[in-house]
Amino acid sequence: MEKVVIIGTGCAGLTAAIYTARANLSPLVLTGTLPGGLLTTTSTVENFPGFPEGIDGFELMTRLQKQAERFGARIQYGTVDAVHLGEKPIRLVIDGQSVATETLIIASGAGHRHLDVPGEHELEKKGVTYCATCDGALPMFRNQPVVVVGGGDSACEEATYLTRFASKVFLVHRRDSLRASRIMAERTLANPKIQPVWNSVVTEVLDVATGKVTGVRLKDVVSGAESVLPCTGVFVAIGHVPNTQLFQGVLDMNPAGYLRPVKGTAMNIPGVFTAGDCSDDVYRQAITAAGMGCSAAIDAERYLASLNA
Ligand code: NAP
Repeated sequence: MEKVVIIGTGCAGLTAAIYTARANLSPLVLTGTLPGGLLTTTSTVENFPGFPEGIDGFELMTRLQKQAERFGARIQYGTVDAVHLGEKPIRLVIDGQSVATETLIIASGAGHRHLDVPGEHELEKKGVTYCATCDGALPMFRNQPVVVVGGGDSACEEATYLTRFASKVFLVHRRDSLRASRIMAERTLANPKIQPVWNSVVTEVLDVATGKVTGVRLKDVVSGAESVLPCTGVFVAIGHVPNTQLFQGVLDMNPAGYLRPVKGTAMNIPGVFTAGDCSDDVYRQAITAAGMGCSAAIDAERYLASLNA
């Protein structure tokens, strides 16, 4: 039987892995579908303490994984099909295999929010994408106009990154000011290749009939006017939804699906802890996720000690 299973290998999961591994608990760490978490899809991380020049998101996550493995964490590529949290020990089904564990740290992160407009789903990977770092350099976007949707730090980061490849980046936002941090917003709006399109929402991605993105249909939310903006790519950066569907009806969560611990990182079922973006709808930073991962590891360690006291 496992002492600690950690779901997720983002900043929260891998920090929990470092701490529980150093406590000789030999954690089993499950990667899920995106090993390294969302940070692997970002470009340079400029605000993680200790890296004055910034660090590539993928490199940061690779280093965290190496650090966890050095102390005995076992990283397993796989996804959790089912959880039986009511059983003692807790039982998980991982890619069809049953695994029993005394404690579970849920650091399953968050996924990209979708626009839910006609054409978005049909044209995914045919011009609609959720990751500029992953897809921005594709030939279909080079020297072409592209659209980024959103007004937060992610949208600004994506828009700035895309200026390397696209002829023009239209930043479509539903209000007339950015939600992004001041430094990101100022840098974005000062970039001559980025043109904000304020007070506008995408109502359709065109053109499903041709099988590729040729533009977006826009609606001005103030005047109600509709227009078409030609582009070859749509980069959706409108926030995230927590990956907690598996725990619905079993673990406490808020209406948006973020896990709600009862004390510290401890959930409403003994032995279950949570950390990172799946339980944080406020800060959602790499460093806060890492801090939460550390807290969850310490809480799990103390819980295990209390069982043997
Ligand atoms: P976010 O801060 O939640 O921003 C989401 C943006 O999308 C908002 O501007 C929002 O508009 C807009 N939006 C939401 N739903 C929409 C919809 N259905 N249609 C159109 N627009 C919609 O998300 P984020 O930018 O992904 O950032 C998430 C967290 O990660 C934040 O805490 C951010 O600071 C952090 N982050 C940090 C960095 C960095 O520091 N380098 C980089 C990326 C992300 P409204 O503004 O009108 O609500």
